[in-house]
Amino acid sequence: MGKRQQLYEGKAKKVFATDDPQLLIVSYKDDATAFNGQKKGTIKGKGVINNRMSNKLMQRLEKAGIPTHFVEELSERDTLVKKVTIVPLEVIVRNIAAGSFAKRYGIGEGKAFSEPCVEFSYKSDALGDPLLADSHVMALGIASAEDLEFIRSTALKINALLKEFWKGCGVTLVDFKIEFGRTADGSIILADEISPDTCRLWDSATGEKLDKDRFRRDLGGVEEAYIEVMKRLEEHEG
Ligand code: C5P
Repeated sequence: MGKRQQLYEGKAKKVFATDDPQLLIVSYKDDATAFNGQKKGTIKGKGVINNRMSNKLMQRLEKAGIPTHFVEELSERDTLVKKVTIVPLEVIVRNIAAGSFAKRYGIGEGKAFSEPCVEFSYKSDALGDPLLADSHVMALGIASAEDLEFIRSTALKINALLKEFWKGCGVTLVDFKIEFGRTADGSIILADEISPDTCRLWDSATGEKLDKDRFRRDLGGVEEAYIEVMKRLEEHEG
């Protein structure tokens, strides 16, 4: 399956049409942005790692009964995926307080929650991805109550599966963002990516950050962290 015209270029990926109207090719870049595009840079080799990691995790989720857009890894940076219309929600699941949650509610990073916390924000760079209550999601016509319930329960299942998997790699899954899309037949499936760009991953033994926060916060060792976390995943997979 070859790339046809480029349909879209995002911050970290390009999307191409294929000869099959139901399938697209996603191509992962090394470009990195943070703070709604205000900070820009490059993380060498990131596209290769994110492509491979996202595909491995999505295949695991599929095996556990979670429908995803993954079809086939075509090359180091390219993956064939099902075409979807993205539901414009950033679905964030948190196990430990960090990032915008810690800032918003004035607590330190590192407090573990007794139950995972699911939040939605509106995918809109122009508006700065504002937080949404369920009633806002429905008022804006983004998703019905039924769809939202499916998205929430699927996000929690994904969290349970990924948390357990990362634990086996000696990595703590602090939080992550996922996106869902609607297929032509109207079903909702997991789309976008799952990678150190979209997850907070802390070394379980040392607490060291092994994710994009190293780039966001100028902590150094960005490339090394992506390589380390990929190595842990591959070693654990055997
Ligand atoms: O910044 P915040 O604490 O809200 O991020 C929560 C999680 O969602 C983090 O793992 C972060 O990497 C991810 N995220 C993302 N894309 C965004 C916002 C957050 O992948 N636009």
